[in-house]
Amino acid sequence: MDFLNKVVLVTGSSRGIGRSIAVQFAKKGAQVIINYKNNTREAETITEIISSYNHKCICIKADVSNENDVKNMIETIISKYGKIDILVNNAGIAIDTNFDDKKIKDWQDTLNTNLIGVFLVSKYAGKYMKEAKYGKIINISSTNGIDTIYPYSIDYDASKAGLINLTKNLAIEFSPYINVNAVAPGWVETEMNSELSKKYLKEEKEKILLKRFAEPEEIAELVLFLASDKARYIDGQTIRIDGGIKIQ
Ligand code: NAD
Repeated sequence: MDFLNKVVLVTGSSRGIGRSIAVQFAKKGAQVIINYKNNTREAETITEIISSYNHKCICIKADVSNENDVKNMIETIISKYGKIDILVNNAGIAIDTNFDDKKIKDWQDTLNTNLIGVFLVSKYAGKYMKEAKYGKIINISSTNGIDTIYPYSIDYDASKAGLINLTKNLAIEFSPYINVNAVAPGWVETEMNSELSKKYLKEEKEKILLKRFAEPEEIAELVLFLASDKARYIDGQTIRIDGGIKIQ
């Protein structure tokens, strides 16, 4: 797979899965834009690392749930590169709490980032993809949006289910030149899960046929495949990548 000179925006890419996706695109020749919300130091570090591979990488601070931030981010990319070929909607949050402690604000923050944020970035980036008659959008959903559901992440699970539906609607809206797909990872080794107890994580690993969580690179490889021309006839789909968690 070759992404030479493709312009790729990965939201929430200062760490975790997004960072791994950004690195792998850059290694295949893409011009990568790092997006982050808060952690400037983390974002600048990965931006420097990627810049050392090939093209100069830039990072843009923008909250994907803030429409003005999103507009400005897309305008900055268009004025610098003239196009956006590939958008990976990766930014996401999970606010794990007991069901009885779950607040309306938890729901709002989660839906604003995980669902409305994807809508906003896709809307503003998709406009330029439509004009160019070329584009790939890949959304990072979760098996929590399908069948690995937990009351402590009730808002997160609903946001990821909504994202599977949103993926289909975006595929319709942006047809026929833009492919829109989602990936649904199971557990992945990232900081998102760092506050969960070791005992609980061990029990969760036991439920997986492969007896381990995914590495972020394994998710990134699927994202790169979906963004490549090898996947040109896949559209509106959600692809699971979960080590066989619900087979038995
Ligand atoms: P992470 O917490 O390590 O990284 C998430 C990134 O998104 C961070 O860089 C964060 O700053 C950024 N972000 C959050 N809100 C943002 C906003 N409003 N605007 C811009 N950036 C924002 O998590 P991760 O594990 O790398 O998760 C990446 C994606 O994968 C998320 O959408 C997550 O829901 C999904 N996912 C993760 C797992 C897992 O087990 N880690 C499993 C399935 C799906």
